[in-house]
Order: sequence, then structure tokens, then C-alpha cells
Amino acid sequence: MAQRHYKEALSNPIFRQVSLAAEQLSLECYVIGGFVRDFLLKRGQPVDIDFVAVGSGIDLARKVAASLPGKPKVSVFKNFGTAMIRYEDLQLEFVGARRESYNRDSRKPVVEDGSLEDDQKRRDFTINALALSLNPGNFGQLLDPFSGLEDLAEGIIRTPLEPQTTYSDDPLRMIRAIRFAAQLGFRIERESLNAIGAQHERIRIVSRERIVEELHKILMTDTPSVGLGLLHQTGLLAEFLPELVALQGIQEIEGQRHKDNFWHTLEVVDNISRHTDDLWLRWAALLHDIGKAPTKRFDPKLGWTFHNHELVGSRMVYRLFKRLRLPLNEKMKYVQKLVLMSSRPIVLANDFVTDSAVRRLVFDAGEDVEDLMTLCEADITTKNPKKQQRYLQNFALVREKMAEVEERDRIRNFQPPVSGETIMDTFGLKPSPQIGIIKEAIKEAILEGVIPNEAAAARTFMLGKGRELGLTPVENPADPKT
Ligand code: ATP
Ligand code: MG
Repeated sequence: MAQRHYKEALSNPIFRQVSLAAEQLSLECYVIGGFVRDFLLKRGQPVDIDFVAVGSGIDLARKVAASLPGKPKVSVFKNFGTAMIRYEDLQLEFVGARRESYNRDSRKPVVEDGSLEDDQKRRDFTINALALSLNPGNFGQLLDPFSGLEDLAEGIIRTPLEPQTTYSDDPLRMIRAIRFAAQLGFRIERESLNAIGAQHERIRIVSRERIVEELHKILMTDTPSVGLGLLHQTGLLAEFLPELVALQGIQEIEGQRHKDNFWHTLEVVDNISRHTDDLWLRWAALLHDIGKAPTKRFDPKLGWTFHNHELVGSRMVYRLFKRLRLPLNEKMKYVQKLVLMSSRPIVLANDFVTDSAVRRLVFDAGEDVEDLMTLCEADITTKNPKKQQRYLQNFALVREKMAEVEERDRIRNFQPPVSGETIMDTFGLKPSPQIGIIKEAIKEAILEGVIPNEAAAARTFMLGKGRELGLTPVENPADPKT
């Protein structure tokens, strides 16, 4: 095969530095993997660059770091035989070329020193096994023993070695195959796809963290349904998101059918991905209907119902996040909240929209109300253009009212216009349930539109409410200002 050179890929001075350091150590050295692939695909700026040395990658990293301005720190991972340098915006990873063999119950290989080609064989895909030489004799030459260049041109995900073994050795590669297919718009070659389908269960030996890392990359693609669909088709999704797979299927009783909530969900995720790059909002879209599987009932009068599925679903979020070792922090609470509230704007859009209903929605959703609306709009998957138009218009109306109400009453970050202290001072009260009752009554009056969200109106209302409760204002309240 003709030799190809890509010197232009190596214009960053860092490559000359690494080349020089390798020469001084009398090592062969190459750039490999994602950097080469993404250069050939003209895909954006690299974040990490992988170097492979025939010899010690750690020694090479040390030599390179010593030659760089500011002498950056070298992080050495002895157990893996790798080293990493952060330099400018780049993460430089170094490894010694190696040959790997695997035990059945672990994805940690037994490692021996090897040649460049040994190292290319242990790579997951042909398109990730491409290497460029940094050696003076053939600087920039492409080394491509598995025709990765061809697969790149044709858009094919293929393993360098036999697929069954490749995926069995390290089952994480099954999800990576799908992730790259989704990210790059490639197709997974048939034998690979079959191998993944046949051994999807082996994903169980992979840590949740690594699975989630790849899942997140799939969720962040332009059309997540591509990757999610492949995960489902191969049986992988059922391994780590069974709640989602449980939504699949259409049941029919007495001639009544419900929609397939799995495929509906994937459509919703695609829709929302056109409007947001927020990973957690995409998660909310993915999980917004998970409560529908456990709550599904057939009622002879009502047909199919999913009573309370929002509440049930939001409770499932916690268990799911915990199982996947996702953060159990405000991100989870956000997803729970959106799942819980996911039907609220729909009710509004169906009925006549009153100001007080909109105020309550904004009050309950707080600063997440925009995201909630985005989710609801994404939830419209009807294929009837008239209906779709009507729903969207209704939501637009809800948004309009939200803006109006917000301008007038600032409900979004609601702060009680009269404090508990003022109530105590006004009526000469010690801490007591009456204070809570009055505060709640003021809030209700504002949400119902009885009074505006203003201190003076709230104060008058407070005096009235106090009288109702048999309270009398004291002569000289401690704080006469409010
Ligand atoms: P990206 O950085 O966009 O995720 P990448 O291809 O650089 O893509 P990394 O996870 O950074 O992916 O890995 C760097 C390289 O290491 C890959 O290109 C591939 O050659 C190799 N590699 C990574 N993970 C595996 C694996 N599980 N099995 C075999 N080779 C792998
Ligand atoms: Mg990378």
C-alpha cells in the first residue's frame, strides 16, 4: 500500500518536542488513537493526545516534561504503566507499546512489552488504531495495519481483531462501539453488532462509572435515539436501564391501545436535544415517563391509565441514580423535580389558562420553569400536524402568561413580602402556629391574585387575617417600617 504522510497533523510544536525527547532516549514514538482519527475526520480541537513509545512511556513523559517551558508536572500511573502531562489546553498521555491478554472475569489485562503493531492490535477499533510516526526517518507517516483509513472513509466501526474476543476481553468496548457510531454517524459492522448482541451480559463486569461515562457521551450526541436505539437493540440497555426498557411495547385490551412509551421517550430526548445541551435536562427527558410501566392499568371505563406516574417516576429516579453511581446531589433533585412536574404545563395547555394557575406553576417550578416548558414542548410527539400546532400554540400562550405574571408578581424566586418577624412584632406574638397560618394565607392570596406581591398590600392583608384569627395589633410594633 502507498505510504501516506500527514505532517500537517503535527504542526503543533509539541510533536517536535516529543519526537526530540524520544530520539534522545533512542525510542520509537507515535501519536495514536483519537487524535489521529479526529484529525482525519476534521473534528474540532483535540483535548487529549495519546503517545505510544516502544519502550517506557513513563520515561518519555518525564523527558518531554523536562524540555517544556515551565516544566509541567508528570502524573505517573505506575500500575497502568502510563503517564500524563497537562500542557496548555492539552492532556498528553504516554504509554509504552504493549501486548495484552485477558482473564475471563476481569477487564484488566495481563500486560507485556510489545511492538507498535502489538499495541495497535489491543486497540478497540480500526479507526482508533491509526498511528502517526514521530520518528525522524518517517515523521508524519501513517501506520495503519488494519485499514482504519478505509473504515474511516466508509464510516464503519470494526475491531482490529476477531470481534467476539475483542468484546469479551473488555466489554466496555461494546458501549464504546455504539458511542462512536452515534457520535460519528458510523455504522457498526455486522459481525461486531452480532458479537455485542450475543454477549451483552458481559457488560456486568464493567464498573457503573465507566458505563455512565459512555452513556453520557451518547446522551450528548445530536440525535441520542441513534445510540440509545442501538443499546436497546443489542440488549445492553436492559442491563443498566431496565426501567426504560420496561416502557417498550403496546398492549391492546378491548380494542384500546396505548402508545409505545419507550420509542416515544427516545423521540422526546431527540426533540429536547435540539433545544438544550444540558446533560441533566436530557436525563429528565429520558426519565420523564419511567413511572408509566409500574402504574399502567386498564380501566374498562377510562381505557389505559398511568395514574400518578409522575410521582412514582420521580421516586424511581433516586434508586436509578444510586444504582448507576450518579451524583445524589442537586442534579438528581432537579431531574426528580422535572419528572414530578412533567405533566403540569400540559394540564394548563389543555384547559383555559388562568393567571393563578400560571402563578402556581411558576411558584412550584421556581427557576426551573423554563426547563420544564422545554421538556413539555419536547414531549409533543403527535404525528397529527393540527394537534401538534395546537399544543405548541397553547404552550406559547402559557409562556406568554408566565412572562406577564412574572413581571407583575415576581413569583419565580418568591420571597414572602411580610416576614414572620414582622407578623410577630405586629401582633406581639411569640413563635406560634398562627404565624405560619398568616404567612401561608398571604402566599395563597398572592398566588390566587387576590393581592399583588407587594409589601403594603400584604401588610393590609395580614392585619385582616390577624383579626379573623382574633389577634389585635400592638400599639408600638418594634419595626414600624413594614
Ligand atoms: P474520545 O477522546 O473522543 O473519547 P478516544 O478515541 O480518544 O475518543 P479515549 O477513551 O480517549 O478515546 O482513548 C484513547 C485511545 O485509547 C482510543 O482511541 C483507543 O485507541 C484506545 N482505547 C481506549 N479505550 C479502549 C478500550 N476499552 N479498549 C481498547 N482500546 C481502547
Ligand atoms: Mg481521547
